[in-house]
Amino acid sequence: MRDQLVFLLQLQQSDVKVRELETAANQLPARLDPLRRDLAKLQTMLDAERAKLAETESWRKAQQDMIDKDRELLKAAQSKLQASKNSKDFGAASREVENRRKSISDREAELKKVVEASASSTAQMQTRDKDVEGVRTELTNSEDAQSEQLGQLRAAVAEAIVARDEARARVDKQWLKIYDTLAAKRGYAVAPVIKGVCQGCHMALPPQLNNILARMESIETCPRCSRLVYRKELLEPPAPAAGPAADESPKT
Ligand SMILES: [Zn+2]
Repeated sequence: MRDQLVFLLQLQQSDVKVRELETAANQLPARLDPLRRDLAKLQTMLDAERAKLAETESWRKAQQDMIDKDRELLKAAQSKLQASKNSKDFGAASREVENRRKSISDREAELKKVVEASASSTAQMQTRDKDVEGVRTELTNSEDAQSEQLGQLRAAVAEAIVARDEARARVDKQWLKIYDTLAAKRGYAVAPVIKGVCQGCHMALPPQLNNILARMESIETCPRCSRLVYRKELLEPPAPAAGPAADESPKT
């Protein structure tokens, strides 16, 4: 019975290992999501700026067309001014010349402001373009590193599954069935007992049962959680998990 308990425990440990590795492999791709979100945000901002700049450019062209048109109208007004034969025509023509000149100079002033502003937006956009490129490169590098890591994880999962299947093969069928049912229902099937308390459900076992466990002649179940139980100190001597020197009490 001791052997079966040991095998069941090994099976449980391999099941945990397979599950942990599978979880790690499944969660890995999502780790780059924040970086992907950053990149998408930057790209959206950049696209918006580019669209605004294109809009400004088409406004600038329209403004330039209107200035050209104003210049033609100014020329016509100037000809009319030269051809004016009386003071009434002269007055009207010179008012028109004046108006056209003012319109041209207003539009040109406006145009100058916009051209300056768009030059600085263009410079800003080039900086941002570089930022986006930097993030993109970072993401590509991270994705490469990650796919390598994922490959290693998947290999580790495959290896762990082989070990798990080997562990399953060592357990007797009757116990496998109980193990699987308990694992499905309780998360895990085998629980250690420490100082008379089941570590699966934290209930103190009847002293009689605890004594039976000490003999290791049978596999017993916890009356409360039904898990297969064993006395921890009998199957797992104090683990060296706390560090290599932890168990070596100095005797000097
Ligand atoms: Zn229990």
